[in-house]
Amino acid sequence: MSFVDLHCHSTASDGTIPPEDLPALAVSLGLSAIAMTDHDTTCGVPACKAACETAGIDFVPGIEISADPGPRIDTDGVERRRGTLHLLGLFVRHDDPELAKISSRMREARNSRNPAIIEKLQALGVRITYDEVLTLAQEQGTQVIGRPHIAQLLVAKSYAKSLSDAFTKYLKFGAPAFLRRDYLSPAQAIDAIHHAGGLAILAHPVQLVMPNTDELEHAIKRLADIGLDGIETRHCDHTPALTLQYEKFAQRFKLLTSGGSDFHGDRKTVKLGSQNVPRAVYEQMLCSRKQTQ
Ligand SMILES: [Zn+2]
Ligand SMILES: [Zn+2]
Repeated sequence: MSFVDLHCHSTASDGTIPPEDLPALAVSLGLSAIAMTDHDTTCGVPACKAACETAGIDFVPGIEISADPGPRIDTDGVERRRGTLHLLGLFVRHDDPELAKISSRMREARNSRNPAIIEKLQALGVRITYDEVLTLAQEQGTQVIGRPHIAQLLVAKSYAKSLSDAFTKYLKFGAPAFLRRDYLSPAQAIDAIHHAGGLAILAHPVQLVMPNTDELEHAIKRLADIGLDGIETRHCDHTPALTLQYEKFAQRFKLLTSGGSDFHGDRKTVKLGSQNVPRAVYEQMLCSRKQTQ
C-alpha cells in the first residue's frame, strides 16, 4: 500500500526543512503524495511543487490557519483555558488574493504579539531581546516568526530545559508571558480557504481540548454547518482510539477524513510520513473536489 502525508511544515513557517527539500525526503520514505501546510503562508508552495514534480510524487498546495476557538467559561464564570482551533486548507490556489489578505493579517497579528511577549519576559527578569528573535528567525530563513523561536532562545540561554519546558514555564496560556492574539473566526478562515478553491479540514481535533465527547461533537457539527469539508483523523497527537472516534464523527456529518504527521523537521520528534495515511485518503479528496467543481 502506498502512503501519503497531508500535514507538513517547512522553513516557510516554523519547520526546519526548506520547501524544496521536503519532496526528496518524502520519496526516500516511500510516500506518494505530500501536502505542504505552513502556518499563515503559502510562500513555500511554488518551490515545493516544482520539487515534487522533479521527484515524481503528487503535491497538495496547502496552508494552516489559526482561528478563534471561542472562550471556554467554567461554571463559576471564569475563563480557564482555550484550546487550539487550526484549519488546514488543502488544494488552495497559493496566489489567491483573499487568502493572501487574511494570511498577512494573521502574520501581522503574530508579529506584533512577539515584541509584547518579549517585554513581558524582560519584566520577569529574562535577558532576551526582540532583535535576537529576529536574527534567529532570519538564520532559519522563515517568514513566520512565532513563539517556537522565542522558546528556542529561552533554551539556548538556559532559562528552560527544553522547548516544551519553555512553553510551560513562560509561553503557554496561563503562563506569565502568555499574550492573547487577534484571531479570525472559524467562518472567516473556512470562507477564505473556499475562496482559494481549497478544502477546509479541521486539524488535530484533540487540540480543541473539549471537556467531553458531546461538546466535541457539537463543535464539529457547528463547523460542518458553516462549511467544514473534513476532519484530520490521523495526527501524531491522536491515539488509535481517538482516530476511530473522529472517523465516526466524519461519517456522521458526511465529512472527508485527512491525516498527516504535522512534521516540523528537527524542531519536533515527529517523523515525516509517520501516520501511515493510506493513499485512498488523498484519492477520496480528489474525487470530492471533482464532484463539487
Ligand atoms: Zn496545528
Ligand atoms: Zn501543523
